[in-house]
Amino acid sequence: MTLMLRSAAVSDPGLIRSGNQDAVHAGSWLLAVADGMGGMAAGDLASAIAIQAIARVDIELPDEALVPALRGAVEAASAGIRDAVAEDPSRQGMGTTLTALLISATGTRVALAHVGDSRAYLLRDGALRQVTRDDTFVQMLVDEGVITPEQAINHPRRAVVTQAIQGERIDPAYLVAEPRQGDRWLLCSDGLSNVVRADTLAATLSSYPDRQDCAKRLVDLALRAGGPDNITVVVADIEEG
Ligand code: CA
Repeated sequence: MTLMLRSAAVSDPGLIRSGNQDAVHAGSWLLAVADGMGGMAAGDLASAIAIQAIARVDIELPDEALVPALRGAVEAASAGIRDAVAEDPSRQGMGTTLTALLISATGTRVALAHVGDSRAYLLRDGALRQVTRDDTFVQMLVDEGVITPEQAINHPRRAVVTQAIQGERIDPAYLVAEPRQGDRWLLCSDGLSNVVRADTLAATLSSYPDRQDCAKRLVDLALRAGGPDNITVVVADIEEG
């Protein structure tokens, strides 16, 4: 039996923002969350460009082609944003996070691409692990031992990202992992992870077997916490196909 990716996605503007600058893709082989930034419509455009570029690799690929495919897609997203800014200079500064997970056709590898402060978590054997590392100023302070992870949660500068896809040079993180039956992945924008604690994420992912229900419940928790930002959630299970 081959391991397959089965997913459900929910995106919600939240309770404060008038629009939703997050974008999401949940396909047969690929999951992706992008959180756009920039004034007016520019943030929407940036996340849409990134999702459009990454969605092109939602295809059957062998294990060794996953990271090159993700790399190519991130470069295409960056070039797309550069072109959009060149077309209209008022878009200067627009950008987007991108966290994407791609499974191979044989189900024997998954690869992740990550830029910014959206996140990927893996629930395996009941334990939740944050697999991506935020590209943020506060994460840098945590890494340097200046503040504790608990102090980072309410830090006044926690929204400051150290890199995003903006058409300039970036250093995305690429990771490869071996999927296991029963793995549950969560990809989300910071509209979820900033307001719902990791232990609540773990408990919710463990207690809602239905992916769609689980994704809805997670969005609900963020809304109950005030929903200050756009909230995007993808819940995906590794199952025998
Ligand atoms: Ca956000």
